[in-house]
Amino acid sequence: MTIIGIDLGTTNSAVAYLKNGKPEILVNKSGGRTTPSVFQINRNNEIVVGQEAKDTYPTLVTQSVMEVKRLMGTDEKVTVKDKEYRPEEISAHILKYLKSSAEEILGEPVTEAVITVPAYFSDSQRKATKMAGEIAGLKVDRIINEPTAAAISFGIENMDKDQHILVYDLGGGTFDVSIVEMYEGVVEVKASAGNNHLGGMDFDNAIVAWVEQKYQGENGRSIYGNTNDLEQIKIKATLKDAAEKVKKLLSAQMSARITIPFLGIYNNAPISVDYELTRNEFENLIRDMASSTIKDVDRALADSGLTVRDIKEVLLVGGSTRIPFIQELVERKFGKAPRKDINPDEAVALGAAVQGGIKSGEIDSKSGLMVIDVCPYTLGTEVVKNIGGQLVPGYFDPIIPRNSTIPISETKLYFTAYNNQEEVDIFVYQGENPLVNNNTCLSKDITLDGIPRKPAGEEQIEVTFTYDINGILNVKAKVLSTGKVREQAIRSQLGVMSDDQVAAAQERISEEYEKSELYQEVKNVIYRAEKMMNDVNPSDKQKIEKLLIELKRELSANNTNGVKLAEEELTDLLIELV
Ligand code: AMP
Repeated sequence: MTIIGIDLGTTNSAVAYLKNGKPEILVNKSGGRTTPSVFQINRNNEIVVGQEAKDTYPTLVTQSVMEVKRLMGTDEKVTVKDKEYRPEEISAHILKYLKSSAEEILGEPVTEAVITVPAYFSDSQRKATKMAGEIAGLKVDRIINEPTAAAISFGIENMDKDQHILVYDLGGGTFDVSIVEMYEGVVEVKASAGNNHLGGMDFDNAIVAWVEQKYQGENGRSIYGNTNDLEQIKIKATLKDAAEKVKKLLSAQMSARITIPFLGIYNNAPISVDYELTRNEFENLIRDMASSTIKDVDRALADSGLTVRDIKEVLLVGGSTRIPFIQELVERKFGKAPRKDINPDEAVALGAAVQGGIKSGEIDSKSGLMVIDVCPYTLGTEVVKNIGGQLVPGYFDPIIPRNSTIPISETKLYFTAYNNQEEVDIFVYQGENPLVNNNTCLSKDITLDGIPRKPAGEEQIEVTFTYDINGILNVKAKVLSTGKVREQAIRSQLGVMSDDQVAAAQERISEEYEKSELYQEVKNVIYRAEKMMNDVNPSDKQKIEKLLIELKRELSANNTNGVKLAEEELTDLLIELV
């Protein structure tokens, strides 16, 4: 059974599998090697994923979702055609599309996958990704880090070399850097750093802001004129689409025009833009963001105890590394040109497919590859500190230091802080700041009770953090004197779905697919009826029209039974009239 590898990206996704020991991209149903991560329910209630959904996005904004990866791990909902969805459900639709594209090519059901996430993704973002897979009907064997996957796809071609490489991964929505050591078939990550909110879409937004300002400056009013909220969303979507195109052109030429003849209407006159953006101006717009990636590179280097000179190869991954300015920054930093022979859009999915092959046993550990990864951030708990006789909460106490090799289990001993303290709350945080408020809270709902009443400091609590190979954290707390234990995978925090919610989402997704296929099923009947209306007498035409209206009404109400009945009636009539 094939275990596919999926790169579930902010802007684009890709799927690959292992064919005769080599990873290969699986093209999607439209023949694309990558698939825009865009979901839509179109006017006919059909589910559309990929290029078509991206192309029609500006005209169908309330029916489409883009960039949902940025919401993974939160409980923020998105609305599509008046229905609310969790981010996992939208991602599940994208995964389901990739899964069925793979099934069409492989000619067999696909039920297992390795999915990649940014190295800097938190525990809840990883769990949300795993759940999206489950909702889509995929057992997610492994969650692996995107730069690690890219290193694996490079590693499988370069097994004979012992060297340190650096993976610089700048995609649509996230940035990661990983330093990887390769030796004797082992791909060992030494350190990772990154930013979950930096990528090509931020560069697009910077161009949109530039257009807005330029328009305001020239016209003395906002580009959005006096349009309503929905029109503003549509204008913004059109601007973003144009901005991305100009950005891509600027990777190949020194200047490009952003021309949109009709964005909307202001005082009966069309709102339009026609501006020239030079590569130099674009570089100024993204300079600070681009420079911040080099700070992360420095941190990863420092954490790995290596210097620029120790890095033998630099791999550029992610579509945004096609920007010449980014390539120059990296080249200047390392004093050598990055590798050009890996495909920045495909390397991650290919590496995930290799990991799938390791899991399925197709690549065996003797002749094959071994992958060792790290936890890129520090994990710890909140503690109170005694400051001048006062107990002050809010301090972060690290348990697993960042860039520890995973899997890892670390234990620390704590003492009761108050006299007769009977319970303790374990608040779990991720981050590098000494104060918890500046870090990310992963859980506030682990409480250990049953501590014997004693003076402060006389009872000991043992806290164990276990971080598994998928980057998922388990916390165990134990009262040492009694042996009472509270153990849980961090699951119930905000933004992570319960088992029941996952089951309900699985049901909903199947139902939606069934409904989506309704239109496909009756499309031919509608086509035949519309054609026949031109060839029959006025009274028959009226009969057809009546049933056609009925069928379309049932379709737009998404009423499966109603559609079936109306279709039967219409088909009977058409047969009668032939
Ligand atoms: P990924 O998520 O790795 O597919 O990266 C997608 C991002 O790369 C999007 O923000 C694209 O706009 C950006 N991108 C793709 N091709 C280019 C290009 N030629 N120049 C600049 N950015 C690009």
